Amino acid sequence: MLKFILTSIFLASSAFAALDHAPSNFNKDGESYVFVDFQSASYKIVYDVESAVAGYKAIIEFEQTHPGRPIFDVHMMPLSAHLNDKSTSVISISDPDNETRYKTIDEVLPAGVHKLELTGRIEKNIKFSSDTVRSGFWMSDLTDRHYLEQYLPSNLEYDQFAMELEVKVIGTDYEHQFFSNGSESTIGKNHFKIIFPEYFTTSSVYFHLAEIDRFKKTSFEFNSISGRTVPVRIYSKYSRGLRGITKKVQTILDELEEKFGPWGHPGLTIYISGMGGMEHSGATITSLSALGHELTHSYFARGIMPVNGNSGWLDEAVASWRDKGYKSKRTPFYSSAKLSGYSIYRRITDRKAYTEGASFMAYLNYELHPYGGLTKFLSQLYETHLHDFWTTKIFIEKLNEFSGQDFTQSFDRYIFGQRIGESNPESEHSEYHPSFSEQDYLDLL
Ligand SMILES: [Zn+2]
Repeated sequence: MLKFILTSIFLASSAFAALDHAPSNFNKDGESYVFVDFQSASYKIVYDVESAVAGYKAIIEFEQTHPGRPIFDVHMMPLSAHLNDKSTSVISISDPDNETRYKTIDEVLPAGVHKLELTGRIEKNIKFSSDTVRSGFWMSDLTDRHYLEQYLPSNLEYDQFAMELEVKVIGTDYEHQFFSNGSESTIGKNHFKIIFPEYFTTSSVYFHLAEIDRFKKTSFEFNSISGRTVPVRIYSKYSRGLRGITKKVQTILDELEEKFGPWGHPGLTIYISGMGGMEHSGATITSLSALGHELTHSYFARGIMPVNGNSGWLDEAVASWRDKGYKSKRTPFYSSAKLSGYSIYRRITDRKAYTEGASFMAYLNYELHPYGGLTKFLSQLYETHLHDFWTTKIFIEKLNEFSGQDFTQSFDRYIFGQRIGESNPESEHSEYHPSFSEQDYLDLL
């Protein structure tokens, strides 16, 4: 029964998708460009070890509500494209504010449902040896276009869509394994399939492939306060990365469940990489010191999800406020700053979220003291918005509703303020999301 209830929750929440949170469609040089709603994406990846090439085939069904050129994204130009079974071509464009870039089809499509088939290469964060391949879909919210679109054709963060991924490793006898945050099955040796939950967006997916004997592993079952048993799988290159890890994860999950509510994902996959971290939905690649921060993101960032770079500050602010000990402050430490309210096309999080943002949350905690504090508010929001989106506007509305106060002026000053850019050296380089070089990313494979 519980399983049924959970499944129903997961399915019901996927209906929120659609285009409610997409940026505005735009015209450029006499052409209309429209944001679309992915219905489903089916990906097949073949890693050919012998020729050291990784290729994908993507079949995407999407709906557009207005005629125009449909917007999606993938870093590398696809090798071939078919729209509704006819050959077509893909081109790059930028948004009207020159915030970011997208891909589109070089033809105007009528409103309706369309099928897009693309083939292409994956060349990022991939390493071949003579008989093995390592591939990781590493991501970042601090760099433009750094989600799934680095590897596969995808939509922007505002869209939830059903994804399945079939993976084959050929040209080698060496056995490979993978780690993900989807429902996994093995079709044969070096042939796998993953179905991801329907509430996933382009920033949710976790996927890591390597040879079978590369990692040490451990697993346990976490007893959630919901009564559900959550399978937890942890892996690392180093035995020392796993020493005492079960207890550490257990303690953090207990803390998060007590503060915010039951774990919201089918399982939990943790890669103790020694560096970093990045959050995914019910998964993380992380250093031991960032573990608590990254698991908090399975609640805020990949549980309740941002729709774009203007809402990304919320989850970094909440997670950093939690890291600093759920503080309470009468006023934020700064006089004014801009963390949100940038171009509607912005896709990256303002780094001031870790510092100014966390301080603002401590201020909200102080203000909300008579009503049970910020954790009470966040846990209620989590209960109603799990697997759904939040924006700064939604956050303010819910906050005002919860407290019976009007926080509009505080947001105008501290979140939509005038000071753009970084002021605090701490926010330049978050200890939880350090800047990685290309070599760093490869070393994590
Ligand atoms: Zn973070």
